[in-house]
Amino acid sequence: MVLDITTLRVALGVVALTLLLLFYASFRRTRSSYNGWWCIALLFFLAGNLAFLLNGTPHQVWANPSGNVLLVAGALSVWTGARSLRMLPPPRWQFATACGITALASVLESPGHNTWSGGLVYLGFMTLGIALASRDLWLLDSSYSHVHKSMALAAGFLAAYYFCRLAVYLVEGPTGPTFRMYFGPSIASLVTLILLVAVSFSMTALSNDQLINRLSERAARDNLTGLLNRGTFMDLATKELERLRTTNSVASLILADLDHFKAINDEYGHAAGDAALQAFAVACTESVRSTDLVGRYGGEEFILLLPGASQERAEIIAADINRSLATAKNVDDIHIPTVSYGVTATEFDAVDLTAMIAAADAALYEAKSLGRNRVVRASPHA
Ligand code: GH3
Ligand code: MG
Ligand code: MG
Repeated sequence: MVLDITTLRVALGVVALTLLLLFYASFRRTRSSYNGWWCIALLFFLAGNLAFLLNGTPHQVWANPSGNVLLVAGALSVWTGARSLRMLPPPRWQFATACGITALASVLESPGHNTWSGGLVYLGFMTLGIALASRDLWLLDSSYSHVHKSMALAAGFLAAYYFCRLAVYLVEGPTGPTFRMYFGPSIASLVTLILLVAVSFSMTALSNDQLINRLSERAARDNLTGLLNRGTFMDLATKELERLRTTNSVASLILADLDHFKAINDEYGHAAGDAALQAFAVACTESVRSTDLVGRYGGEEFILLLPGASQERAEIIAADINRSLATAKNVDDIHIPTVSYGVTATEFDAVDLTAMIAAADAALYEAKSLGRNRVVRASPHA
């Protein structure tokens, strides 16, 4: 059977274009970055294939290296999309380096009459890009539907195929019998065609999952400060305290309230008040560990649960927050009020979240009545 490469490239182009239209429609609905990166990848694949159609014409000298770079960029976009599912940022410098090296290698081996100019580098980066995409898809957590495992396997299969292409290319070059029989552009286009269709099945599920994850992340947080909102804090803190109780560990709880905050709003305006709240939120997150829970309890009241921290440790953290706040005040020149804190720990008789909050609230009230700007520890017999 003779597979005509031009026909296959046109078929691949038509499938890629159809998928691009479908994926773009889905992207407009979900705004899922995985979906968006696949649209970009398909554009690269389409453009790369168009460039390869110019092989054998006088344009080959620029079109063939461009084709290599565009396909490598496509593979890296698939990887970037897979990374976005894991909340990882786009790999900018890897992207630029891979495309740059591919371009350089492709212009150095007489692309005017050698359609495999830069072939080794091209195959190397294709293998790497697809293998990395497979790895990131495999490592997705359970908040994604199981289809990601099948996608990881499909990408893994394609990476293995490209790796074999690379190995055979190294051994016998692009004109060798095995390479031409199994790893030439025709079979590679056919394999890519099949896998593109497989990808289209997973697109809806994965981009919907990404949308849902983004929405639930947003719903869990206070949109001014980015801290946990009250409801989420209460849910997470209740679970955390239950877990700590089973292991007999301590935990501390801090309630913080900005002093005379209303005066900041009245004197400098609501925006200045908002900036102070944001600065306090930053000071809190800077002063705690990633396992601690920080929430906005209400207007200018904040709540922190510090698993494993004793009463003394919690008081030190309150002092750290004040220090960090003082730095922000000097650097950004924002109007930041003093803060009153009520602190309690599970070492005392408060055992559940509601009781801990009540104890910390009583301590906070005392801090206010003692003149504000201080840390008060909850009385053991509150
Ligand atoms: P105290 O020292 O007794 O805590 O006095 P206070 O002025 O801080 O307390 P009060 O409860 O009288 O006022 C809280 C103010 O916080 C009133 C409200 O307008 C303001 N506030 C609540 N949420 C926000 C917000 O999101 N942004 C801004 N700018 N102000 C807010
Ligand atoms: Mg208040
Ligand atoms: Mg206040």
